[in-house]
Amino acid sequence: KEGLYSCLPQARQLLVLVNPFGGKGQAQHLFYSHVLPMLTEADIGFNLVVTERQNQARELVKDEDLSRWDAVVTVSGDGLLYEVINGLMERSDWQSAIKKPLGILPGGSGNALAMSINHYTGNDPVNSQDLLTSSTFTLCKGLVAPMDLVSITTASGKHLFSFLSFAWGFISDVDIESEKHRTMGPARFTLGTLIRLCSLRTYKGRLSYLPAAEASGEVSSFTSSQISQNCQYNVCNSNNSYNPQSNANEVDHTSTASVAEVSRVVPLDQPVPNHWTIVKEEDFVLVLAIYQPYLGEDFFMAPMVSKPDDNLIHLFYVKAGISRASLLKYFLAVEKGNHLQQSSPHVVYVPIKAFRIEPFTSKGVMTVDGEALECGQVQGQLHSRLARIISG
Ligand code: ADP
Ligand code: MG
Repeated sequence: KEGLYSCLPQARQLLVLVNPFGGKGQAQHLFYSHVLPMLTEADIGFNLVVTERQNQARELVKDEDLSRWDAVVTVSGDGLLYEVINGLMERSDWQSAIKKPLGILPGGSGNALAMSINHYTGNDPVNSQDLLTSSTFTLCKGLVAPMDLVSITTASGKHLFSFLSFAWGFISDVDIESEKHRTMGPARFTLGTLIRLCSLRTYKGRLSYLPAAEASGEVSSFTSSQISQNCQYNVCNSNNSYNPQSNANEVDHTSTASVAEVSRVVPLDQPVPNHWTIVKEEDFVLVLAIYQPYLGEDFFMAPMVSKPDDNLIHLFYVKAGISRASLLKYFLAVEKGNHLQQSSPHVVYVPIKAFRIEPFTSKGVMTVDGEALECGQVQGQLHSRLARIISG
């Protein structure tokens, strides 16, 4: 598969990071019961680090001699890999460090990337321990694929790197409010969704984005087939004047940005360029930018994503005014990925390359890959194939 795909060496050494706090608190136990026997069978060497606190993994990979390892693997939810990716990007040698193959084994309550990789391998969806077995098998096979990342810049000057999603509104609230139900495992998100539906609220702010529509042949053919498949669905095929030549510098396709110089889109304190779309509504129920098919084990949010480097951010937003019944129907359909067939004037999907969110108040929370971020002005931008992931 092209030169971008590769295979881990036969005799390999893994750095395995386990978060004993992830999910129902069983990640370490699951590692010994399910993962260890398969690694032993496959003759794969590893060093196990059980984290003792948040951000330990992030600090560890920041200073680690990476040449000792063929891959860095996390056993937790998506949050521990988020720590690893951001730790790698904080290194002075981030350009080579971020190319270290990464692996994920599901041991958390939010196992979106593990679900997504299971999807990329062509397997049927599986949950909990079957997902862990499938993911461990993928790790043993050791095929490495490129993966897009999205850089998130905040008005306070933070630069974060995201492999899964950025959320504001309903979804970030559910993510954070359901923390207290983490002993339920992935079901905490379903419960959290129902609770939030009962106390539905709206979030005020401005949303702008750079549409992907005419960025490349691949993107336009994707968009038109989406439209013909789901013609009643509210796809924003923006006829905006995005011109790939004149804006060639704006989105980084070459993955040569550094953390400091990563923002090729206009800085947050300047207005978005004319060829961006500014959404005219300023009242939202949710805004979600996602770049993997699964948002959680039971949330097949972006079924159009078929590989970890599809070079797109998939933007979903729900405008205020949607009824509780319609929103419930929408979320019920998300479980199987059938929500794209529903038509609702309040629900919009659009493939993009960059976005900006300017909330009118700083109340509430946003999430990056399920991790909390204080609510404020943010900008996100796609970086094609910046990282590498062990996938099918
Ligand atoms: P889950 O899917 O269950 O939320 P995550 O992998 O997302 O699992 O981890 C949840 C949170 O735990 C993340 O914010 C992560 O940074 C943090 N974390 C990592 N190691 C530890 C630890 N040893 N103790 C407490 N929190 C930790
Ligand atoms: Mg999490």
